[in-house]
Amino acid sequence: MAEALDRARAGDPRALARLVSLVENGAAGLRPLMTALAPLTGQARVIGLTGAPGVGKSTVTSALVATYRKGGARVAVLAVDPTSPFTGGALLGDRVRMQGHATDPDVFIRSMASRGHLGGLSAAAPQALRLLDAAGFSVLLVETVGVGQAEVEIASLADTTLVIVAPGMGDAIQAAKAGILEIGDVFVVNKADKPGAQEAVRDLRTMIAMARRSEGDWKPPIVTTTAVKGERIADLAAKVQEHWDWLDASGARESRRHARAREEIAAIAVAELRKRVGGLPGDDRLDVLAGQVAAGETDPFTAADELVALASRQRG
Ligand code: GDP
Repeated sequence: MAEALDRARAGDPRALARLVSLVENGAAGLRPLMTALAPLTGQARVIGLTGAPGVGKSTVTSALVATYRKGGARVAVLAVDPTSPFTGGALLGDRVRMQGHATDPDVFIRSMASRGHLGGLSAAAPQALRLLDAAGFSVLLVETVGVGQAEVEIASLADTTLVIVAPGMGDAIQAAKAGILEIGDVFVVNKADKPGAQEAVRDLRTMIAMARRSEGDWKPPIVTTTAVKGERIADLAAKVQEHWDWLDASGARESRRHARAREEIAAIAVAELRKRVGGLPGDDRLDVLAGQVAAGETDPFTAADELVALASRQRG
């Protein structure tokens, strides 16, 4: 595995793909891998892209890949579909892949679905990002589909979150509802070539002004792009850079990464605990306690304490 990691760092795409699969499937080799690559992480910047289907996420992602490649960065794209267990994620990644980066060895594109991983996507995606970071990719683009809680969760993985809307789709309103106004660091009105772009900018500006932010906080800019023509993608990259510089200067990068690590540890620990307290085949402790609670012999709090104590005595 150390050898596979070395090969991945040297740019061998097949070695890297194998390691990503290992992360995705939560296979037995995952723990030693994460231990080995921990010291190699912390260099990459993670850019999240979110927005409703059809607003142009894949197109913007692809255009950003081209921009960062011109700057010499190795770029990885992780397309994440929290809503679909199987094929949706693959389609997302395929769309980016089709847009001309498939043959570039310094671009890695992968789709991830939420299937069966310990702790779900919230546990798998950060590990995949760590691996890509350790493998020498300096820009990691995470694309998610839809607008909702799962996107908010995924967006919390990013250093910089781009919220993308398109004119005339009611997306701005939807964004406000789903609470993603608070998580957007840079707002993108894509399809600026279509009517209604300026209205969308105006709506967004009003809503951003209403969202609660404190003094000294980053003020999210709005960029209008025409991603199909690559127009104003350089401006977008410049705003992302400004945000990155702000994160650095304000100390927010450290605090965000700290908060992210907390979430990650807690998610893994809770999943582990859940597995131990209820999920083991032939394990009837939970049933025994349930019988006692149902019969009024004990209360659920006492029973839960007992279960947690039993689980933590048991070695993983
Ligand atoms: P996603 O579902 O959010 O990833 O959206 P896609 O990137 O797949 O784009 C959806 C459709 O919008 C595709 O047909 C794109 O070609 C088109 N599209 C993307 N960007 C633009 C743009 O700037 N202007 C116009 N007119 N169409 C665009």
